[in-house]
Amino acid sequence: METKPISFNPPTEDAPAILLPVAGSVFAERAERFATLAEGHKLADWLHFLGRLARAQHDALQALPELPPLPAAALEQARQHHMPPLNATAAERPAVWREVLRQLIAALLPHAPAGSVPLLGGLAAADDIRLEALADGLLHGEPDPAAAGELPLVAAALQVVFTARAAHLDAAQLQKLDTPGVCPCCGSLPAISIVRLSPAVNNLRYLHCSLCNTEWNVPRATCAACGGDKGLALQQIDGSDGKVRAETCDGCKSYLKIVYQEKDPRVDPVADDLATLALDLLVDEAGYGRSGPNLLLVNAAG
Ligand SMILES: [Zn+2]
Ligand SMILES: [Zn+2]
Repeated sequence: METKPISFNPPTEDAPAILLPVAGSVFAERAERFATLAEGHKLADWLHFLGRLARAQHDALQALPELPPLPAAALEQARQHHMPPLNATAAERPAVWREVLRQLIAALLPHAPAGSVPLLGGLAAADDIRLEALADGLLHGEPDPAAAGELPLVAAALQVVFTARAAHLDAAQLQKLDTPGVCPCCGSLPAISIVRLSPAVNNLRYLHCSLCNTEWNVPRATCAACGGDKGLALQQIDGSDGKVRAETCDGCKSYLKIVYQEKDPRVDPVADDLATLALDLLVDEAGYGRSGPNLLLVNAAG
């Protein structure tokens, strides 16, 4: 394992604090990225499957009926109380997510290996009570390990609906929360962080929501879990190109990975995370626990 020095870039005044997801492209770009990463990869079959899943998420999102907008009073109340306006753990969620789940399964079934057809068929036929129980466990950070094969699909459907809702918000009406490691839109944990490079965003680090694909700026060299800035280090696999690193914190013994757009402009937080599980193993073995989940892999939960 190599350890790299940490550089610090203070946020510039005009850089956006919150980047909302772009509904027309977020899942399509992810699908392409999964396909690219799958080439020659040891886990090629799985990454190709995830690419088809992301493509199905894109199609489902484009076909999604318009969801009722958040009432202005609810948005204002969230602002005043420093709460996320879309609460992922609220008892009620748009029921359309279950329809999206069945659309995703229908898109995957024609390409599914024979061994996974019963699981997909069973999930498509599951009643609302079971589906809501699976969603509740996932969104409360207590996924049912017995449903490890089904939960990535449940997560993918919930991502479609929460991403659609987040994309309809106005970033100017949102604010970062007092807890820097929580999504200002839906209150979920980040899957990973990304150092972005674009005309508007120069080398700033954003945490990427594991559920709604919103990103929020957090200074580099700050632990996403405890907010500390001491005892941090960047780890990478020996000989790797440094496109994905793990930021480890000795204060709380956690880590979160970082992907760098300067190394490749097409990096995708979710896809590049899942294509680098060897790095998770390395830092897990060194005694650090992952601080945020990738919902497409139950075992990656922190
Ligand atoms: Zn979110
Ligand atoms: Zn920490």
